[in-house]
Amino acid sequence: MSSSSSTLVITGGGLVGMAAAILFSHRFDRILIYEKRSNPLTDQNFSNRSLQLVISARGWRTLDLLGISDKIKAHTLQLKGRYKHEKNGSTHHEPYASDGQAICCICRETLYRLLTSEVLTLSNTTVFFDTEVTGLDPAARTYCWKNSEMSDTGPYDFMIGSDGVHSIVSRELNGDKGIHRVLESNSYREIRIANAPWATNGFHYWFSEKMMMGSFPVFEGGYSLFMVLERQDIDLILGDTDSTYLQNHFPEITALIPDARQRFLNAADGILGSVTCDCWHAGNHTVIIGDAAHGILPFMGQGLNTGLEDLFVLDGYLSKNGLKTEKSLSDFAASRRPQSDAIRDISMEQFRYLTGKMTQSERSARKEVEKHLEEHGLPGVYASCAFTTEPFADIQERIRVLNNQYR
Ligand SMILES: Cc1cc2nc3c(=O)[nH]c(=O)nc-3n(C[C@H](O)[C@H](O)[C@H](O)COP(=O)(O)OP(=O)(O)OC[C@H]3O[C@@H](n4cnc5c(N)ncnc54)[C@H](O)[C@@H]3O)c2cc1C
Repeated sequence: MSSSSSTLVITGGGLVGMAAAILFSHRFDRILIYEKRSNPLTDQNFSNRSLQLVISARGWRTLDLLGISDKIKAHTLQLKGRYKHEKNGSTHHEPYASDGQAICCICRETLYRLLTSEVLTLSNTTVFFDTEVTGLDPAARTYCWKNSEMSDTGPYDFMIGSDGVHSIVSRELNGDKGIHRVLESNSYREIRIANAPWATNGFHYWFSEKMMMGSFPVFEGGYSLFMVLERQDIDLILGDTDSTYLQNHFPEITALIPDARQRFLNAADGILGSVTCDCWHAGNHTVIIGDAAHGILPFMGQGLNTGLEDLFVLDGYLSKNGLKTEKSLSDFAASRRPQSDAIRDISMEQFRYLTGKMTQSERSARKEVEKHLEEHGLPGVYASCAFTTEPFADIQERIRVLNNQYR
């Protein structure tokens, strides 16, 4: 790394990339962020995928470090638990934690706009929107980019790849063989609804044997409603013009939103899957973080939180070892990999539970473990992930030992 002037290039100015610029701005003379989408502050049609995000303890720890927690909290709703809606219209409240702790829910676009506004105040940072990084050569520390008007190549001293699950930086570090993708057979679709008589201090959900629906209240008004179902069942459920399936199994939803079937049919199909990468860094100069390093299923609400925790940990190693040694990045990768593997597996278990993919004996063991934790006044898996910063791998090991007792 040159000692006179240092340039950090961030490939992918999404949520984690923008947060990285704020956190590391004091470490570099110059930061260049390349983001292939448009500027969310000026593009009126700007829209992101899933509408709502849950921020939990590890996310807040990083946002505290960035000094922007209060600004963000002002745009969140506090959720204290889940409401399970039965077919007969009854509802059961399931608190997230026995002491009433809450997770915070924010509109993804709002969070992205807040982070972007903060980045645009940094005097040493330039964001190139509508501009894509098309390749890099870590050995030479060069990268190329293009937008609708031109393309060019440039040098970097330090590169952060925060370019999401299809990361070009990760592909360069790993080749095709070092990236492991698991695609689920389920589809995820989300719509926004204006009104519903549902409490705004919790997450609401509905089940049938073929699909689940969930709803988050939205700070800006209304609710976000999503469904998860096997792709092979889309025709049966969404292609049925009489909405028979939905009416029979989700009468509360169809009474409230008569055109729910059509709206879900028209909604974009979200892909559900996990991505694991073997190699997270090259030398002392190129590193991947966030979804670029670990894509996980969204059912524990920890993907972004894990990406923000990457930043917290990377900042710690850079402070301890400095920017010049490879040790900062190798320690970072060695410490994060087991944690991201653990939350990937924990999220997968939650997904299997919610979508009825668990065997009867797995379900019974899970129930016994939950009962054991409750009787001993211990937090469940969700509460441990959401309300503590306990390493995910430790949470996973604790539950694994208990699970074995009850199988
Ligand atoms: C349905 C759903 C619900 C979720 N809910 C939660 C939740 O409640 N809580 C939670 O913590 N997480 C949640 N997540 C996960 C969360 O959305 C991700 O973990 C998070 O967005 C990752 O941020 P990122 O910045 O690493 O990646 P991304 O958000 O994917 O951002 C990557 C950015 O890089 C840009 N980019 C990509 N390639 C290039 C390139 N070559 N050049 C330039 N730019 C490029 C993209 O345009 C994008 O803006 C959810 C995910 C889904 C799908």
